[in-house]
Amino acid sequence: MKLNSQHAWLGAAALALCIGATAARADDDCDGGGALRLVNGKIHTMDKHDSIVSTVLVRNGRFAEVGKAGEGDDDCTRTINLRGRTVVPGIIDSHNHIILLGLRPGRDTRLENANSIAEALATLAARAKETQPGEWLTSVGGFSRNQFFAAPQPVRFPTLKELSSAVGEHPVFIMEGFSGPGAVNQKAKDFLVAHGVPVGTTPGQDEGYVDGGAFGVATPCTTALFLLRQMQTRDSMLQGLTDAMRYAAGIGVTTHLDQGGFPFSVPVVGDPSDGAADFDRYRAHDSVRALYHEGKLTNRIWINFLHVEQDVNTPELRARLLNSWDDFGNNMLRVLGIGEFTASAFLAPGTPAWMNGTRLVAQAQWRNENHSLNFPVFALPGLPLDWKVIIDGWQVVNDELVAEGNPDGIKKLRWVLAHVPVITPDYLQKLKNLGGGVNVLGGWRWLTGTATQNGPPFRDILASGIPVGMSSDGMQISTMSPWINLYYVVTGKNARGELINGGQTLGRNDAMRLYTANNGWFLQAEDKLGTIEEGKLADLVVVSADYFDQRAVPDERIKDLRSVLTVVNGKVVYDDLDGRSKDYWKAGMP
Ligand SMILES: [Zn+2]
Repeated sequence: MKLNSQHAWLGAAALALCIGATAARADDDCDGGGALRLVNGKIHTMDKHDSIVSTVLVRNGRFAEVGKAGEGDDDCTRTINLRGRTVVPGIIDSHNHIILLGLRPGRDTRLENANSIAEALATLAARAKETQPGEWLTSVGGFSRNQFFAAPQPVRFPTLKELSSAVGEHPVFIMEGFSGPGAVNQKAKDFLVAHGVPVGTTPGQDEGYVDGGAFGVATPCTTALFLLRQMQTRDSMLQGLTDAMRYAAGIGVTTHLDQGGFPFSVPVVGDPSDGAADFDRYRAHDSVRALYHEGKLTNRIWINFLHVEQDVNTPELRARLLNSWDDFGNNMLRVLGIGEFTASAFLAPGTPAWMNGTRLVAQAQWRNENHSLNFPVFALPGLPLDWKVIIDGWQVVNDELVAEGNPDGIKKLRWVLAHVPVITPDYLQKLKNLGGGVNVLGGWRWLTGTATQNGPPFRDILASGIPVGMSSDGMQISTMSPWINLYYVVTGKNARGELINGGQTLGRNDAMRLYTANNGWFLQAEDKLGTIEEGKLADLVVVSADYFDQRAVPDERIKDLRSVLTVVNGKVVYDDLDGRSKDYWKAGMP
């Protein structure tokens, strides 16, 4: 530590404090507000030159020094020796559903890291130890039976007997995707059957099997979800979001751009047809606002507002744009824009309501994001594919704006097409010319992709020069873990171990760049987030092993990485450097 004039002054102050008192230690004076220095790391800054440094200093929530030894330290600086560990910038998940995850009823348990039935059971058993006896353990969305069995073995859920013996004290309910199917243990079965929900009645399935069905239709699984939602309280919802952020920090996600949920069928109370992706749109953000005001957000949660409405005049979206502000909030909780639907009647782009809504967003000059799944409009075979309809529609709206006297049209608004399993070079160029970007994912294809349901074409998209970022689209149809998403980008393999996206894979550094430096653009925050550079907001992740080293972490192990230390806004929000934390998700990792 270097002695400088500030230091000498602090020394004198400390001496003065000591006179006539019991020994006053520097950290008491610092009150936790001191700087943080990391030393002896392999710190991948992801700056333009891919610089790797060994030390950083974090002060007042920002990177004060990157790669300089000791200049800015003082008595209040806490030093952590990383002993050669690898560090990356805080991971930005630029399209996910953390708010929906926080609203899950029961104590949600992420199963995405479990690679076998045994690991799934171990994960649930570990979660049971973190919760009060009798509390519901749930896992709603974000996993698939495909994870548990390599091809060509048949897949299945854990049986009722397996779930009951792994977790006896709690009712357990797990379900896939938006609306099932799922599985329960005996305690949960007793409850559901008593409430009229059929369990174990499907021919050829286990006695704990709970049937699912099409999106938007009441199924035994969504009925179970409806019953569990009746038991939620304000406190349980605060707990749910706190749990979701704890998990995110534990796997290294520091920033979420939340993309909302579908409105409940019956506003406020919902009904049994509502699935995992539905919420009460009037109250869905209460928990995040409450935790924000209490200073208890441990992740950055930035918000898009999802609008689905059938009325061609899009009154809800109109009210939003007239009566609220984009870019409002601070660096922890901020409104960003509209998405991932823009007044899409029946979820379809290209309808009159969608066109009017899109026009309103353009006129208001807000950010806009739409998802594309390479589905034909209305999911009707023969109708044009969603990504073409969206980009063509955006072009029309842009040209109208230009004709009305706004020469920039939508070109400075950074409109984003998300997921993009399929797109052609001409449409990439068209979107690029509109100032847009493409936000790709991996976890969805990893969970349920096949040789014909594959993509995104990562290499083609990167080669086009359009802004491209990475996200998970967790946590209904996809996983949240960035390491699972990166595994898919790097290997092109799905959860069954089948190569489905060969020819479009990326190297590890390029893949990581999509999740960090590139994602700054997608948050309109490339000057603040995404890299470890002086002056930027201090978010970083110490990784459990060296992601960049193929010998230390063979391809198959990428998906099992996690964080051992996560810093958000200069504060340590997750610390497992000593490896002793008992966090449940570690049970699903080797
Ligand atoms: Zn989404």
